[in-house]
Amino acid sequence: MAILHFTVSKYAPRMNNLRYYTELTSSLSRLAAEGKVPFAEIDALRDVLRFHEHRYQILNDPLIADVEYDQLFKALEKLEKEHPESIRPDSPTQRVATGLSKDFPTVAHLVPMLSLENSYDADDLLDWDRKARELTGLSELAYCVEPKFDGASISLIYEGDLLTRGATRGDGVQGDDITVNIRQIRSVPLRASFSRYGINQIEIRGEVLINKSNFAKYNAQLAESNLPPMANPRNAAAGSLRMKDPKEVSKRNLEAFLYHVSYYTIVGEAITPGAAVGLPESTVHDAPHTHSGMLDMLWDLGFRSPKQERRVFNGIAEVIKYCHEFEENRDNLPYEIDGMVIKVDDLGLQDKMGMTTHHPRWAIAYKFKARQATSKLRKVEFQVGRTGSITPVAKIDPVPIGGVTVSSVSLFNEEVVRDKDLKIGDTVLVERAGDVIPYIVRSQPEVRTGEEEDIIFPTHCPVCSDALFKPEGEAVWRCININCPAQVVERIIHFVSKDAMDIRSLGEANVRRFYEAGWLKDVPGIYTLPFDQFSSLEGFGKKSITNLQSAIEASKTQPLHRLIFALGIRYVGETTAKTLAQTVDHILDFTEWRLEQLLTLEDVGPKVAGSIYQFFHNEDNLHMLRELEKLGLTLKRSQPENIPGGGSLKDQSFLFTGTLSRMTRSEAEALVEQQGGKILGSVSSKLNFLVVGEDAGSKLEKAKKITSIRILTEDAFLDMVSK
Ligand SMILES: [Zn+2]
Repeated sequence: MAILHFTVSKYAPRMNNLRYYTELTSSLSRLAAEGKVPFAEIDALRDVLRFHEHRYQILNDPLIADVEYDQLFKALEKLEKEHPESIRPDSPTQRVATGLSKDFPTVAHLVPMLSLENSYDADDLLDWDRKARELTGLSELAYCVEPKFDGASISLIYEGDLLTRGATRGDGVQGDDITVNIRQIRSVPLRASFSRYGINQIEIRGEVLINKSNFAKYNAQLAESNLPPMANPRNAAAGSLRMKDPKEVSKRNLEAFLYHVSYYTIVGEAITPGAAVGLPESTVHDAPHTHSGMLDMLWDLGFRSPKQERRVFNGIAEVIKYCHEFEENRDNLPYEIDGMVIKVDDLGLQDKMGMTTHHPRWAIAYKFKARQATSKLRKVEFQVGRTGSITPVAKIDPVPIGGVTVSSVSLFNEEVVRDKDLKIGDTVLVERAGDVIPYIVRSQPEVRTGEEEDIIFPTHCPVCSDALFKPEGEAVWRCININCPAQVVERIIHFVSKDAMDIRSLGEANVRRFYEAGWLKDVPGIYTLPFDQFSSLEGFGKKSITNLQSAIEASKTQPLHRLIFALGIRYVGETTAKTLAQTVDHILDFTEWRLEQLLTLEDVGPKVAGSIYQFFHNEDNLHMLRELEKLGLTLKRSQPENIPGGGSLKDQSFLFTGTLSRMTRSEAEALVEQQGGKILGSVSSKLNFLVVGEDAGSKLEKAKKITSIRILTEDAFLDMVSK
C-alpha cells in the first residue's frame, strides 16, 4: 500500500502553499482514480478538498476540474464509510445533509445585531464625520469603507475553530438557528484557525447572497415550471435560508460574505473587539486592533470577507469619493449591493464611541439611490414564448430607474396580474434591482379615478390566432400551434444561445431579421443561410459574414448535451440534457424509449419524462433532427473512444485560428503538448483538429474543404482536454 507521508498540521492550513497542494492533489488523484487511497491519508484528503473548495468558492480561481474534485470527494466518502469512527464535523463530506429540518429553534445572539444609521448624500456624511470627530476629540479619523451587501443577514459562531452555530438576524436580539442550512453554503468554512490569533470563541456577522447570474437562472427555472418568480435576490436568499430541506439549499448556490466580528473570547476571557488583551504566547498573530485588520484576518482564514473591496481613508473626503465610485459601478458587480458602510477603523475608538439604543455611533450606512419609481400603466401586450406560453407585458410611461429608462415590465401570468390588482391606467410602483429585470411592486388603488380598465386576457394567440389553451393546474395560457411564427423565432433564438449551441454572432436581432427576410424559417435553416445575399444587408461587412459562417460551422461539432439543451424540450435544462446525452449513443435512440424507461433516469420525474416522450414521438421534431444530421451536426454521443487515446492527445495534431477568449494561444498550445499532442503550422490533410476562435479566417475556409479535419470551438476543445 502506498503511503504518501504528507503531514497535515491541524492548525496551519497552507492555503498559500500552491506547490504543496498541487503535489498532494496529483498524488491523491492518482490513487483516487484507482480507488486506492489509503486510510492513513484521510486527513490529507480532507485538507486537499478544503483547499480546492477555497480556491473555487472564495478566490474564484479553481485549479482542478469538477470531475477531479468529485473523484477525490467520493474517495473520502468511501474511506469514511469504511471507518465511520473517523468522521469529524468539519469534514468536507459533512455539509451534505439528509432528512428535513423540523423547526428552526430560536437562539439569542451573543451581542445584539443593531441596524445602522442611514445617510443619503455627501452632506449627511460630512455631518456624521463632524460628530465623530467631536466625540473622539480627534481632528481626523481613519475610516474603513466597504460595500453594503443586499442579502439576508446571518451570524456565525465558531468555537475551538469549528463552526458550531449559524443563525438568522431575526429581531436583532434573537434569531433562528439555521446551522444545518448554513453548512450547505460552500463559502462558509466548517473550520477556521482562529486559534492562531489566540481566539477561542468568536461571533461573526455577514450576509448571504445569490449572485445576479444564479438569480436569473433560478427565476428562469421557476418560469419553466410555471411558478411565480422571486422578486429580487435578497428575497431569494432569505427564503432559501429557511427551507426545510437542506439539500434544496445546497442547490441554490448561495454565497456568504462575512464582514464583522461582534464578539470573541481569548483564553477564557470574554471581550468585545477593541478592548486591550494579553495574548497567549502560543498564538501566531495578535488579534487585529482595527476593523480592516479583522476583515483581512477573516479573509486569511478562508472567509469571503470584503478584503478586496474595502479601503481605509484618512478623513471623509476620500470616503465620499469612493462611495460615488462604487455607486456608479454597481451594475458591473456580480452581486447586489444597496450602499456602502463606513466604520471608524480603530476598534479602541469604536469602543470609546459606543452606541445609542438603535445603532452604533462609529458606523453609518451610505444608501445608494433607490431603484424604485412610480409610473402609469398604459396598456398590456401579450408575448408568445418558445413553448407557446403567453406572457402579459405592461407598457408603462418611460421612467428612469437606477440609470436605465424602463418602459416595459413583464407581468409573468394572469395570477400575478390578479394578485397585484392591476388595471390599465393605474399608478404603479416599479422596482429594478441591478441588471435584474424590472418588476411591478404594487398598484396604488388609493389614487384611482374610476377611469381605470380591467386587463382582458386574450382567448386567441396574438400572433397566429389559434385558440389558446390552459392546462389544468397551470397559471399560464399557451398557444399550442407548433408552427406559430412567434414560437419558431423564439426556438431559433434559444438554439443559438450561449448555453445551447453558442452561435454568438447570430443573436436575437439577427434571427428576427433573417426570419423577416424569409431566409431563416426553422432551426435547420441556420445551416443553409444564403450568405451570398447578405452583402445587401446594412451593417453586414465581409468580416462579420465570415465570423458568422465560422461560428455556424463550428457549432456542428458541439457536444451532444448542448444540442439536446438547444432543442428546447420543455423542462429539459442543462443538467437533464447532460443526463440524456450520456444515456444513448444516438439521440434518435430515444424514439424507442418507453415512458417507464425515461423515469429511471436521474432527476427525471413524470412531468419531465412525459415531455421528453412527447418530443421524441412528434414527427415534426424527428424530421428536424434528421435534417440536422444531414447538414453535418453531431447527433451521436461524444464517446471516450472518439477522443484519441482515451483522453490523452497522443499522436493527434492541432492548429488554432482566430482569437481565443478563455486563454491565450500559447497556453492552449501548451495544453496540447502537455497531453502528448502536436501543433501544426498550417492546414493540411495531416491535421486532425482545427480549434476556431473569434475572427477565424482563411485557415477555417481551407479546413472545411478537408473532410478528415474536425473543427472545434474553444469550449469543445476545453471539454476535450479536461477529460
Ligand atoms: Zn400562436
